[in-house]
Order: sequence, then structure tokens, then C-alpha cells
Amino acid sequence: MTDRYAVVGNPIAHSKSPLIHTTFARQTQQDLRYEAILAPLDSFISTVEAFRQQDGKGMNVTVPFKLEACRFATELTERASIAQAVNTLKFESDTILGDNTDGAGLVRDITANLSIPIAGKRALLMGAGGAARGVILPLLQQQPATLAIANRTPQKALDLQRQFSAYGRISAGSYMDFAGTHFDIVINATAASLNDGLPELPDGIFAAGALAYDMMYSKEPTRFLKYAARQNVQYLADGIGMLVEQAAESFHLWRGIRPDTATIIAQLKNSSN
Ligand code: NDP
Repeated sequence: MTDRYAVVGNPIAHSKSPLIHTTFARQTQQDLRYEAILAPLDSFISTVEAFRQQDGKGMNVTVPFKLEACRFATELTERASIAQAVNTLKFESDTILGDNTDGAGLVRDITANLSIPIAGKRALLMGAGGAARGVILPLLQQQPATLAIANRTPQKALDLQRQFSAYGRISAGSYMDFAGTHFDIVINATAASLNDGLPELPDGIFAAGALAYDMMYSKEPTRFLKYAARQNVQYLADGIGMLVEQAAESFHLWRGIRPDTATIIAQLKNSSN
């Protein structure tokens, strides 16, 4: 019987997850169907329960339900528990396993696809929302020389620093608190690019040979990536690779098979985002 999977969010029409997972399934010859489901903002749990009752095997969870999915899961992987956010659900009889594959996706895109090691590097994470929270532990596990978290509302960055301090050395504050500091890897995990915005970065934040990575992706380079290009940053990347890699990690959790990601990343980068 064909197994059913879905991505749930609001909005959801723009999601590339059905295309990505359908490609993975064809490539690995897995008999599954993957759809996009719009959940009303006040009905996340009933939407997921209905899918589960109809023999759904697993779901990806996107904005704005990642925290609710974390509370809904009956078991959490360590990385989901520490992030307190879930982007992947796996249904097995009475168990609802919650995982967070965003951070693994980001790390894999940087280290494997872009061939840029994180170990020993000075990294700056911009933003302290759901996306930032999900990638802190996987970034720390790569053992960067330093990890700084900067946010428009500095208190939220300080809260994350306190929460994750057991897992590695973190500094935190406003963007201007890092004036005079140079970073080898600067990751934009803010939602600013969604509205063509740019957090107020101090001048000279990029070290020579740096990577500027925007988790957002769009047809045109984001304002952050355009800014980085004007600063002559050597490596620029958007979040398409992360999106595909987090999907591959979810696929692996569900099906026990790791799909090839290079072809679909290239296809998405060449199509109109
Ligand atoms: P949240 O709403 O949880 O967090 C928003 C963050 O952005 C906060 O830190 C907020 O600061 C900051 N922010 C928003 N607007 C501005 C602005 N104009 N200037 C400075 N800071 C701003 O969003 P998420 O964390 O869920 O998502 C963030 C981004 O990551 C989105 O673009 C999303 O598309 C992307 N993403 C990409 C993924 C991928 O696979 N490629 C996966 C997950 C997310 P403050 O606290 O001060 O409000």
C-alpha cells in the first residue's frame, strides 16, 4: 500500500516539500505519496490527528506550528528536545516522534555541499527566532572557535545563550555589540529578508574568505546576500540547500534511506524560486 506523508503549515501553497519528497521517492523507489496540507491557525492538532487517522505515516511541520508540534509529540529526539521545536513527525502505532532536522540540514549544506568546514571558525548567527533556535546545537557540535548570536531584540539572544551554554561557548547581544569583531561564517536566520529588510550589521563584520549564508531563498539574491556581495564576501549561499538537506534528513528518519540531494538542489536553484 502507498504510504502517505505531508507537510503542514499556514500558508503552505508555496511549499517545495512535495516536489522534493516526490523526487526522493522516485529516486529511491519508495512507494509513497506526499502532499501539502493547510492547517487553520487554531486547528493544528486536529489537522494532524485527521491525517494520522487516515493512515498518515509522517509529516513535516512548518511556520507557524513548530512549537505546537513539539508539545504535541509523545517522544522527542535529543535535538528536538533541546531546540524545543519540531519540523518532522513520525507516526508509529501510539507513538508520535518529534524531530528537528533543520540544523542538520544547514550543517550538511555548509560542510558537505559548500565544502566549508565550521570547525575552528568564528560563526555569527543572526536572529533568535524558531529557525535560529533549531540550528544552535548542530552548529555547536561542529566545534566552531566561537558562536555569537545577535538579535534586534538582544534579550532573546541572551536567553538562547543561557539556554544553550551547557553545549558550547556562546556570546550574545545586539548587532552593534559585535562591532569590531570579524566572522568567518555569518548565517542570517532572521525573517528580515522576507520583507526585503536587513538587520543593522556593523561594518567590517566579514573576515577575509568568509561565507554569508541566508536561510531564506528567493528568485533574486536577498538583501543580505546583496549586502555581503558589496562587502566582497567570498562565498554567498541561500537556504535552498538547507531546505533540501533537512528534507533528506526527514526522509531518512521515515524510510531509513538517504536520498541523493545534488540533483534536486541544482534543479531548484535553476528554476524560479
Ligand atoms: P521567527 O519569526 O521565529 O523569527 C524571526 C527573527 O527575525 C527574530 O529574531 C526577529 O527579531 C528577526 N527579524 C524579523 N524582522 C527583522 C528585521 N526587519 N530586522 C532585524 N531582525 C528581524 O522566524 P523563523 O525563525 O521561523 O524564520 C526565519 C527565517 O528562516 C525565515 O526567512 C525562514 O524562511 C527561514 N527558514 C529557512 C529554512 C530553510 O530550510 N531554508 C528553515 C527554517 C526557516 P526580533 O526577535 O527582534 O523580532
